[in-house]
Amino acid sequence: MQRGVDVVVFDKGRGLGGRMATRRADGGFQFDHGAQYLTSQIEGFCAMLTCAESAGAVVRWQDDDIEAAYVGVPGMTGLAKYLGRGLNIRKETRVDAIVQTNGRWKLIWETGHEMFDRVVVTAPAPQIGALLPDGHSFNAALDRVMMDPCLTLMIGLPSGAKLPFVSRRAPDKDISWIVCDSEKPQRPNATCIVAQASRDWSLRHLELERDVFAKLMLPLVSEAIGADFITDAAYVSGHKWRYAFVSQPLGQPFLMNAEQTLFAGGDWCLGARAEDAWSSGDAIAQKIVTGM
Ligand SMILES: Cc1cc2nc3c(=O)[nH]c(=O)nc-3n(C[C@H](O)[C@H](O)[C@H](O)COP(=O)(O)OP(=O)(O)OC[C@H]3O[C@@H](n4cnc5c(N)ncnc54)[C@H](O)[C@@H]3O)c2cc1C
Repeated sequence: MQRGVDVVVFDKGRGLGGRMATRRADGGFQFDHGAQYLTSQIEGFCAMLTCAESAGAVVRWQDDDIEAAYVGVPGMTGLAKYLGRGLNIRKETRVDAIVQTNGRWKLIWETGHEMFDRVVVTAPAPQIGALLPDGHSFNAALDRVMMDPCLTLMIGLPSGAKLPFVSRRAPDKDISWIVCDSEKPQRPNATCIVAQASRDWSLRHLELERDVFAKLMLPLVSEAIGADFITDAAYVSGHKWRYAFVSQPLGQPFLMNAEQTLFAGGDWCLGARAEDAWSSGDAIAQKIVTGM
C-alpha cells in the first residue's frame, strides 16, 4: 500500500526468500543452501541493503576468497523476511494458472481462486509458460531464456571441526564452491558446510535422486577439503536447484502485455544474482506506480 497499490503476494514456499534460502536441521545446523551472499553495483539495491543493515536484517561479511558482501541474518532468508514485513503474503500457495477473464486476471490454486487487476509473476522463466494460457505472447521470449542447474550439498559436522579455509571457489572443478557457512556472522556454533557442484557436474547428475547425488558429492567435497572427517558428518543432505543461475538472460528488465496488466520478471531478465532480481522487480514496480 506504500504507493497506493494494494498487493497480495503468493509463494508456494513454506518460508520466504525463494533461492535465497535457509535450511535448519536437528543438531543446531543451519545452511544457506541457495544464494551465498549479496554484492551490488546498483544504487537502489545498495540503499536497500543499507536500510536492511540498520534494521539488523543483513550484516557485512568478508573473507579472503570473496569481495566485501552482505549476508542475511540469522540466515539468508532474513532479508526476504525484512522486505516482506507488513505485506499480505499467502505462503504455501502454489499458483497453478493465471487466466484472463473480462479484462481482469484470475489466479487459480489448488484450493481457491481470486481476481486481480494486475499480476506480476516472478517464478524462474522456464516455469512461467505453464502458468499462462496456451500460446501466450510471452512464450517466445521466455523460451530464449536459459537457466542452469546447481546441485548443492549441506554437511553438518561435529562441533569444533575446522576447515582449512572459510570459502573456496574452483570454477574448473566438479565442486566449484565450498563455504564453511557457520563462519558467516551471527550463525549458530555447529560447523556447517555448503558445497555446490559445477554446472557440468550438475547437468550430468541432474536426474538423480537427492540422496544419490549427495552420496556422490560427499567424497568429492572431502577430497577438495583434504580432510576425511567429512565422512563422520552428523548431517548430510542434497538439494536440487533445477533453475539456479541464468546463463542466457532476457536482456530487458521485464515482460509486459499490451494492456500493462500482466508482467513477468525476476533475476532471469538481467543476470544471475539477487541484485538482478531486485532491479527487475524495481523496474516493474516503477512501471505500475508511475506508468513510466
Ligand atoms: C545455489 C545458488 C547459489 C546462488 N548464489 C548467489 C549469490 O551468492 N549471490 C547472489 O546474488 N545470487 C545468488 N544466487 C541467485 C539468487 O538466489 C537469485 O538471483 C535470486 O534469488 C532470484 O530471485 P527471484 O525472486 O528472481 O527468484 P526466486 O528466488 O527463484 O524466487 C521465486 C519465488 O517464486 C515462488 N514461486 C515459483 N513458482 C510459483 C508458483 N507457481 N506459485 C507460487 N509461488 C511460486 C518460489 O517459491 C520463490 O519464492 C544463487 C542461486 C542459487 C540457486
